[in-house]
Amino acid sequence: MTATVPLSLAPREEQVFPVLTPAQIERVAAHGKRRTVQRGDVLIEAGAQHYPLFVVVGGELEVVRTTCAGEEIGATHRQGQFSGELNLVTGRRGLATVRVTEPGEVIEVERDSLLAMLQTDAELSEIFMRAFILRRVVLIDRGFGDVVVLGSKYSPRTLEVREFLSRNAHPYTYLDLDSDEISQESLDRWRISADDIPVVICRGEATLKNPTNAEIADCIGFNEAIDVDESHIRDLVIVGAGPAGLGAAVYAASEGLDVLMIEANAPGGQAGSSMRIENYLGFPSGITGQELATRAFSQAEKFGAQMIIAKDATRLRCDRRPYTIEIDNGARVAARTVILATGAEYRGLPIENVASFNGAGVYYLATPMEAQLCKGEDVIIVGGGNSAGQAAVYLADTARRVIMLVRSGGLAETMSRYLVRRVEDNPRIEVRTNCQVVALEGGTHLEKIRCRNGTTGDVVEDIRHLFVMTGAVPATKWLDNCLALDDHGFIKTGPDLSPEDLNAAQWPLTRQPHLLETTLPGVFAVGDVRGGNIKRVASAVGEGSIAVAFVHQVLREQ
Ligand SMILES: Cc1cc2nc3c(=O)[nH]c(=O)nc-3n(C[C@H](O)[C@H](O)[C@H](O)COP(=O)(O)OP(=O)(O)OC[C@H]3O[C@@H](n4cnc5c(N)ncnc54)[C@H](O)[C@@H]3O)c2cc1C
Repeated sequence: MTATVPLSLAPREEQVFPVLTPAQIERVAAHGKRRTVQRGDVLIEAGAQHYPLFVVVGGELEVVRTTCAGEEIGATHRQGQFSGELNLVTGRRGLATVRVTEPGEVIEVERDSLLAMLQTDAELSEIFMRAFILRRVVLIDRGFGDVVVLGSKYSPRTLEVREFLSRNAHPYTYLDLDSDEISQESLDRWRISADDIPVVICRGEATLKNPTNAEIADCIGFNEAIDVDESHIRDLVIVGAGPAGLGAAVYAASEGLDVLMIEANAPGGQAGSSMRIENYLGFPSGITGQELATRAFSQAEKFGAQMIIAKDATRLRCDRRPYTIEIDNGARVAARTVILATGAEYRGLPIENVASFNGAGVYYLATPMEAQLCKGEDVIIVGGGNSAGQAAVYLADTARRVIMLVRSGGLAETMSRYLVRRVEDNPRIEVRTNCQVVALEGGTHLEKIRCRNGTTGDVVEDIRHLFVMTGAVPATKWLDNCLALDDHGFIKTGPDLSPEDLNAAQWPLTRQPHLLETTLPGVFAVGDVRGGNIKRVASAVGEGSIAVAFVHQVLREQ
């Protein structure tokens, strides 16, 4: 045994901590340099921005982090094993210290050389990428990271902060002020009062009180390794890192383009919030949206794509080429081509006080965190689409009763058949048709929900949890008249563009727009943000890959 791994992962230990063969070690050595090491040498300091991969040829390395309670050993690497996890691929700071416990020899491989090796040696790429991803899963499971979140289960913002970290697959330790024993002395030491929560402590250095997602991203250093400089003209800037944007990034970067993604929240988009995607090709037993997003994100980064996290693209300057995209921190990036993959945003309920219960009884996602909050209680789900169906089936595992309110007369028109069957067969789920929510009541938390049925009248339910799963509107407001949109605000592309659209936009080329190209040459729209798109993960990924084929053609035109 080489490391402390949760029992559930024990059978996969040889994949989490693989042992390279002598021939594989030789191939790694071609990308790095050999060095001898002595007991006590610190090879990587926790929090280091630039650090290499180490392969143990002889001796032993230990991975440790320092917590308030002292040192915690994360793993021990012996002959043929190697250090590193996902942050090494993404260029983010190291989460732990790596030091020598038995003298010997290591191979040191700088990050750029590691990426080159991963891109060219398929066998090593599989071994290393699988180990890095599985290690991240273990770290998340154990809360072995460089971030501590102090919060309360009664604080909506605490929930959002935890969701932001989870969706960015960043390991953190959570301390709940209501249930964990946190001494007044610790709070005084951190100069924290109850009004400050949630509090995020990064690397034991910076303490953020009730921070925004962007502040958390900056503090952890999500965007540190990225060169945001207007004079650096990228081949391709992708706005939005849902399935469509990630699909485009993987293809573009693997085909040698200089790619930057800008993501307002976390990779994965809507799909990232799905508890189980069961119809995506190649995953017969389903995959969580989070896992799919993490895999896709690391795949894109392996090929050299970069991603700015927790920053909105706020403006597309479309009056000249190269195009410029402004980001909400005031920075600008320049691009020869652009792929818009901003997807759609959740639609709220047309009820005046709904926002006051957001996160305090009203939720737009059904993840383990929300499921925990309504464990053993009744919940209402509004909506009749696939996301509502998935949420109902998922929440029925932990909630006492799930009531689905559907405006129409049934689920058949709006939900996949397999899901309708699961909803109908689940004794804990009740479907009420021709119903809608008309009022919400409560104090600091939702307490009552008034539901209206067109024929039987109003019913007031003493239910404290409402999930709004009523679909989404396209995220195109920021585009500011740059492009032709359809009547619902989705972006028009390719054959959907009429001669009038092209005239109005003063289309400057003799050729017609490519498939997925907008009224701006070299600017493409893919996924849910595009008019006429089929709202599926597979179609979003497919459109992302198709757009890249046309990006190459546009780059050749320039
Ligand atoms: C709960 C749920 C379950 C689902 N389950 C399935 C399923 O099982 N199977 C299936 O095929 N489909 C499923 N879908 C649908 C599928 O997830 C979507 O069709 C797909 O995610 C669309 O991908 P996208 O990349 O086009 O957009 P999105 O997933 O919406 O991603 C868009 C991204 O762009 C970002 N963004 C938006 N505006 C900006 C901006 N101005 N600057 C920077 N970034 C921005 C957003 O933060 C987001 O990350 C599900 C959807 C939901 C909500």
